[in-house]
Amino acid sequence: MSTFSGLLQEANLIGGTWVGADSGKTLAVSNPATGEVLGQVPNCGQSETQRAIDAASAAFAEFGRTALSYRVGLLHKLHDALMDNQEALAHLLTAEQGKPLFEARGEIAIGAAYVRWYAEEIRRAKGEIVPAASNDRRLLVTHHPVGVVGAITPWNFPSSMLARKLAPALAAGCTVVAKPASATPYSGLAWGKLCQEVGYPAGVVNILTGSAREIGGAIMDSAEVRKVTFTGSTEVGKTLIRQSADTVKKVSMELGGNAPFIVFDDADLDAAVEGAMVAKYRNMGQTCVCTNRFYVQAGIYDAFVERFSQATAALVVGNGAEDGVQQGPLIDMGAVEKVEALIADALAKGGQVQQGGKRHGNGGTFFEPTIITDANASMRFATEEIFGPLAAIFKFESEDEVIAAANATRFGLAAYAYTRDLARSFHLNERLDYGLIGINSGLIATVEAPFGGVKESGMGKEGGSQGLDDYLVSKYTCLAGLGA
Ligand code: NAP
Repeated sequence: MSTFSGLLQEANLIGGTWVGADSGKTLAVSNPATGEVLGQVPNCGQSETQRAIDAASAAFAEFGRTALSYRVGLLHKLHDALMDNQEALAHLLTAEQGKPLFEARGEIAIGAAYVRWYAEEIRRAKGEIVPAASNDRRLLVTHHPVGVVGAITPWNFPSSMLARKLAPALAAGCTVVAKPASATPYSGLAWGKLCQEVGYPAGVVNILTGSAREIGGAIMDSAEVRKVTFTGSTEVGKTLIRQSADTVKKVSMELGGNAPFIVFDDADLDAAVEGAMVAKYRNMGQTCVCTNRFYVQAGIYDAFVERFSQATAALVVGNGAEDGVQQGPLIDMGAVEKVEALIADALAKGGQVQQGGKRHGNGGTFFEPTIITDANASMRFATEEIFGPLAAIFKFESEDEVIAAANATRFGLAAYAYTRDLARSFHLNERLDYGLIGINSGLIATVEAPFGGVKESGMGKEGGSQGLDDYLVSKYTCLAGLGA
């Protein structure tokens, strides 16, 4: 427990006070690597959420009008607090989520980087003076904070997904009611503790754990909540979009993916295998931008499969808190069963197990990093999100064929391609229906660039200058009667 440096919070932050659920009920949180119960968090519902919304609404009246320099100063303090506590936060994240410590350290650092980015970017959130048709008018376009924001986050990146929402919201002057995922609530609650320590006023940041339906329902029903930002599955995202209609909220949705990773004959093989490893196995394959489908051109297929299999077989699987571990456990038994079902489906339709293929000898929710070759479009993973350490490899012949196959999904989040042909890189940019495209890189998310999908992968952007837009509303003011 001491490794967490007092950052493991077992209460919720509502209106500046740490409280339990009204009912006194709690939810247990366990370590997926060991099964050990780490602690309990409040099982809150509708009434606690309404109090948090009221607190955020009251706080917005002042926080929304604070000086830019004050908000920028708080963000810099928050960035420093995150980095000062990086080690403890990383241990907490690995304990509740399972990813290896080196990845958890990276997640804390990228979260802090989003905070610093928005401390810088809000200074450039300029308005406009638009040329008017007549000389007696001046047309102003100005930006203002949208108001109270509801933020709902998933378990796979419990710290950085909150960072991408909190940082632009707080920069803009919004107040927030956040609900972390029930499997991994501690990383989110730790953000609440640090926000309080660096001096955010009561009610600006509220964090609740508990019933998704009740907390989510209260957020969606509230006319005071003007914007909802969600990261999670496409199915829940669709429900929230429907629910947002009654109060006409702004929504941004970071939803599921089914990323293609295309290796052309002219690719740098070493670079392609290195990119494939990170794009497939980061967080045990449980990222929204993880490769779901590898498409490898016929001329390089055998060499790629051989090298990628060797690298996959060498991955060290174990408790992410231990030195040298590269693959932790999956989040729960449901995730293991889904990977098993996808493998069984592929084998029944002609796929071959090239590597792995079953539960790992460590037991629990550990799974062997797995490669299936001879994949075809009839297999479930051709259209479904895998969310596990399973790599499916398809063979292709031509550029047109692979672009059509890559686009044949309802998702449109990330796509990757390895080629040394510059003209082809531009074709891919123009023809792949994806919000994020990595050419010769398997890891492309960065604070400076807008992250977000198209089609059923969502709407809105996180990161880049665009990431502020969802937290601002623009107003047009016409100053008339100014004379000739
Ligand atoms: P999920 O089941 O959709 O849950 C996400 C969050 O929504 C959790 O906090 C969950 O609470 C909450 N929730 C569930 N049902 C709800 C409801 N009816 N109303 C309001 N909130 C509700 O997704 P997940 O399994 O945690 O995350 C995995 C998914 O997230 C994958 O599809 C992945 O691709 C996607 N993802 C997308 C991005 C991106 O940037 N596009 C990034 C990361 C993950 P409970 O935990 O309490 O159920």
